[in-house]
Amino acid sequence: MFDKILIANRGEIALRVIRAAREMGIATVAVHSTADSDAMHVRMADESVCIGPPPSPQSYLSVPAIISACEITGAQAIHPGYGFLSENAEFVQIVEDHGITFIGPTAEHIRVMGDKITAKDTMKQLGVPCVPGSDGGVPTLEDAKRIGEEFGYPVIIKATAGGGGRGMKVAQNADEMESAFMTARAEGKAAFGNDEVYIEKYLTTPRHIEIQVFGDGKGKAVHLGERDCSLQRRHQKVFEEAPGPCITPEERAKIGKICADAVAKINYIGAGTIEFLYENGEFYFIEMNTRLQVEHPVTEGIFGVDLVREQIRVAAGEDMSFGQDDLEINGHAIEVRINAEKLPNFSPCPGKITAYHAPGGLGVRMDSALYDGYSIPPYYDSLIAKLIVQGRDRAEALARLERALGELIVDGIDTTVPLFHALLQEPDIHSGDYNIHWLEHWLAANMAE
Ligand code: ADP
Repeated sequence: MFDKILIANRGEIALRVIRAAREMGIATVAVHSTADSDAMHVRMADESVCIGPPPSPQSYLSVPAIISACEITGAQAIHPGYGFLSENAEFVQIVEDHGITFIGPTAEHIRVMGDKITAKDTMKQLGVPCVPGSDGGVPTLEDAKRIGEEFGYPVIIKATAGGGGRGMKVAQNADEMESAFMTARAEGKAAFGNDEVYIEKYLTTPRHIEIQVFGDGKGKAVHLGERDCSLQRRHQKVFEEAPGPCITPEERAKIGKICADAVAKINYIGAGTIEFLYENGEFYFIEMNTRLQVEHPVTEGIFGVDLVREQIRVAAGEDMSFGQDDLEINGHAIEVRINAEKLPNFSPCPGKITAYHAPGGLGVRMDSALYDGYSIPPYYDSLIAKLIVQGRDRAEALARLERALGELIVDGIDTTVPLFHALLQEPDIHSGDYNIHWLEHWLAANMAE
C-alpha cells in the first residue's frame, strides 16, 4: 500500500479523497493555486504545494507542476478526482513514465472511452446496447442529410471529442440539419480541437440512467446498480438518486451484468460509469466516464461501500474488498448539487461566506469544502456543496432532503438552494415521473430568466 498520495484537485472532491486516505493510514499532499492558499483541502491535507497562479491551465492543469509536486514530496500515487486531468490520457501516460501510480484506469482505457465514436464501437462489440445512428464519423453535410433521412428526424449531431454538454446539436428536421451540423463541428473544433462529428437518433423522452462499474484490472468486475440523473439543466446534472425510481430489480440485474462483463473483458481497473438513455424499457449507451463521478455518494450510500478506498486499493495492486454477491441495496439516496449561482439566471456568484452551517442528523452527508469566512474564488467550477441524504425508501429520503435543506445556512452569496426547495413542492418530483427535459420545461415555466 502507498505511504503518501497526491490529490490533483481542489474543493469537495479533494476532501473526499483526503478522508479516504486518512482512514487507510495514507499521508496526503494537496496542490493548490495561489487563489486557493486558504482553501479547505490545503488545510486538511498533511502537506501542500503551491503549483501556480489562479487560472487552471497554469496550476490544476499544469502537468509539469503536478509531477514536480509529487517528486518534491515523495508521493507515490496521484488521485485526480473528477474534472481537471482526470480523463487526460496523456497526463496518465506521463505520470506512469515517471514511476508514479495513477489512481484510475490505464491511459489506453481513457483514450478509448474519451473518443465517443471509438467508445461506442467498443461498447457495441462488448454487447452493450447503443443508440441507433451513424457508423462512425460523418464527414460531409450530404452524408449527414442522408443519415437524417435513414434514421428519421429528430437526430442529434455530436462532436466525437465532446464533453460537458458541449458540441451537441439537435436537428428536428432536414431544414435544421445544415446549421446543426456546422455548429456541432465548429464547437468541437473550438472547444476540443477536433471537428469530427457523428449522428444519433434523438430520443425525445428518455431518462438518464448510469451504471456504476468497478474493475480490479485483472479481469474481475462488478456493477453497483444505477443512478438516475434525469434532472438536468443544459445537459448538467443537478439532482441524482439511487436506485432509479423506474428501474426494476430484473432490469438492474440484466443491464448491470452486461456492463460488468463488458469492463471485465477489457481488464478495466478502478471506478467507471457507463451512461445510458433509457426509454420505453430499453437502455441506449451514450458514453463511459473513466473516473469517479460527482454523484458517486448516492451509490456509496445504498451499498455502504467507500469507492475511493477501493480505487486506492486496486491502484496499489490489492484485490477489491467485495464481490458482486456482497453488494446489496439498502434504502434510497438522493444528492443535490448546490452551486454558488444566482437564480433565476444561474449566473456565477463567488464571494465571501459570512455564515455557514451544515445540516446533520440521521442519513445526512454534506460533502463540501466551505467554512465560515471562506472566500469562494471566481476562477473555478461553481459547485460548492453536495448534500446527500438517505432514507429507507424514496419518500423518506425526500422528506429528509427537505429537512436538511432547511437546516443549511450559507450566507454572503447566492446559491441554488431555493431551486431545490421549489422542486420539492412538485408532485412529479415525488412520483419520480420525469425525463431529461422535465427540468428545462419547469425552469421555463417557473423561473423565467
Ligand atoms: P457529454 O459528454 O457532453 O456529457 P453525453 O453524450 O453524455 O455528452 O450527453 C449528455 C446529455 O445530452 C445526455 O444526458 C442527454 O441529456 C443528452 N443526449 C445525448 N445523446 C442524446 C440522444 N441520442 N437523444 C437524446 N438526448 C441525448
